[in-house]
Amino acid sequence: MTETGGAVVNGSLRLLLIGPPGAGKGTQAARLSEAYSIPAISTGDIFRENVKNGTALGVKAKAFMDAGQYVPDELTNDLVRDRLSQPDVADGFLLDGYPRTLQQVEELDDILGVDGAALDAVVVLTADTDEVVRRLLKRSAEQGRSDDTEDVIRKRLEVYTEQTAPLVDVYSGRGLVVDVDGLGEIDEVTGRIIAALASR
Ligand code: AMP
Repeated sequence: MTETGGAVVNGSLRLLLIGPPGAGKGTQAARLSEAYSIPAISTGDIFRENVKNGTALGVKAKAFMDAGQYVPDELTNDLVRDRLSQPDVADGFLLDGYPRTLQQVEELDDILGVDGAALDAVVVLTADTDEVVRRLLKRSAEQGRSDDTEDVIRKRLEVYTEQTAPLVDVYSGRGLVVDVDGLGEIDEVTGRIIAALASR
């Protein structure tokens, strides 16, 4: 049992984090991973690592990432299936940025078995468009990520709205969604997520 700011977590915790680019998913994933002692699995980070190391997957993924598009489901699904077969996820995990398409939802259901019932909650981080564009442009200046230019940012937001926003309805239908306002100080947002999960 883990005490986390009032949240008591028994056994394993399997979470998804969904939100538009720039909503602070990566930052919050790292915090939650520490708070709940579960590994955070970010498909974006795994792709970036592969790009950096020049692997075959990285070479294929880079073209899509630089265009602000999603890496095809076949490539993404295999990577997640492999990652979720590793022993460190036995006591729970936090998936950051996967699934992002309806097909990936089906794949994750298949990986986890029994219609995704194995998930405990889906945290949806909300943030308005002006704010996320502002944050992404700031990150671009600080980190120089090649997919943070203004044109690519707009494309990524468009792709999110078209392909990922519909997932919220799917998970709402399963009673798993916890909406959390992603605007504000980092600590404040982490606190909101932990409180929202504790009150479920
Ligand atoms: P992120 O760091 O999560 O914003 O991901 C950066 C980029 O990696 C995205 O814009 C996509 O090109 C790619 N990517 C990450 N996760 C996925 C996913 N689940 N499906 C397809 N592409 C993804």
